[in-house]
Amino acid sequence: MKIALAGIGKIAVDQHVPALAASPDWELAATVSRRGTVEGIEAFTDMAAMLEARPDIRVVSLAMPPVPRFAYAEAAIRAGRHVMLEKPPGATLSECHALTAMAREAGVSLYATWHSREAAMVAPARLWLADRVIRRAHITWREDVRKWHPGQDWVFEPGGMGVFDPGINALSILTAILPAPVHLTEATLEFPENRQTPIAAQLAFTGNVTADFDWRQEGPQTWTIQVETDDSTLVLSDGGATLMIDGAEGPRDEDTLAGEYPRLYRNMAHLVAEGGIDMDLAPFAHVADAFMLGARKTVAPFEF
Ligand code: NAP
Repeated sequence: MKIALAGIGKIAVDQHVPALAASPDWELAATVSRRGTVEGIEAFTDMAAMLEARPDIRVVSLAMPPVPRFAYAEAAIRAGRHVMLEKPPGATLSECHALTAMAREAGVSLYATWHSREAAMVAPARLWLADRVIRRAHITWREDVRKWHPGQDWVFEPGGMGVFDPGINALSILTAILPAPVHLTEATLEFPENRQTPIAAQLAFTGNVTADFDWRQEGPQTWTIQVETDDSTLVLSDGGATLMIDGAEGPRDEDTLAGEYPRLYRNMAHLVAEGGIDMDLAPFAHVADAFMLGARKTVAPFEF
C-alpha cells in the first residue's frame, strides 16, 4: 500500500522512514512537512495539497508533535484516508474521541500507536503476568531530555506533556502487561520555574503501583518496570527489550519480526486490511489524570 508520512523530524527520520523502507507492506509515496523531506520521495508542504494531488495514497502516518497533529488527522480522515498516529495520539482526550468518531463515520482505519508496547519482551511479560496476583509494581523511567529531544522546546510548551512524553511509553507498557486496570490516586509534578510542563513526576496508582519519571538523568538511562507477584519478581528493563524473572532470563519473544516501528507498521497494515479502529487511550487517561490530580512543585529552571 502507498503511504504518506507527515512531520519529517527526529522520529520520522530515526524510525518511520527505515521501518517503511524495510516493510513488505508499504511504499512511502509522499511526505508532508513544512521543511523536512526524504530523499527521492515526492514532498508536499501542505496536507490539503497532498490529499488533493495524490488520491492513490490511501494511508497517512502522522509523526509531528501532538498539538498540531489533530488538524492533520482531521483533514486526512475527512478526505477518506486511513490514519496512523504517533504517540501520544493527541493533545487532549476529547480530540482523540473526536477523531475516533470521525473515522467511524468516514469508514476508515485509525491507529493510536504505542511503540513501546511493541518492544520485544512486552508480550512475554503480559503472558507471564496474566494469571498471577500482583503485589506491587514500580516504574523507573529516567532519561536525558537533552539527548532524546535536543532543542525541542515544544515538549515544554502547553500540550507538549513534558516528562510524560517518555513517561507515557512506560504507561503504555504498564497498561498492556497488568492483568487488571489500575487508576491514579496521587501525583507530584515538578515544573521548572521557566517551563509550562513537568520535567519530573512521581505517581501512585491503585494496586500498589508507583512510578518515578525524570528527564534530568545524564549517563546511563533507566527504563525499567518491576512487578512483584505472589510467587516471583518480574523485571522488564531497557524499555521492554529485556525480561528477567527472579534474576534469570524470562521466556522468549515468539514474534519473528524485530523492531518496535516495523511491528507498528505491520499492525497498521492488518488494521487497514480488516477495516478496524485501534484507539486505546488508557495510557493517555493516566497522564490526563496526573495533570488533574497532581500537586505542583516548582524546581530549578531548565535550558537545553
Ligand atoms: P520533532 O522532530 O520536533 O518534530 C517532528 C516534525 O514535526 C518537525 O520536524 C516538523 O517538521 C513537524 N512539526 C513540528 N511542529 C509542527 C507544527 N506546529 N505544525 C506542523 N508540523 C510541525 O519531534 P519528534 O521527536 O520527531 O517527535 C514527534 C512525535 O514523535 C512526538 O509525539 C513524540 O512523542 C514522538 N516520538 C518521539 C521520539 C523521540 O525520540 N524524539 C520517540 C518516539 C516517539 P516541519 O518543520 O518540516 O513541518
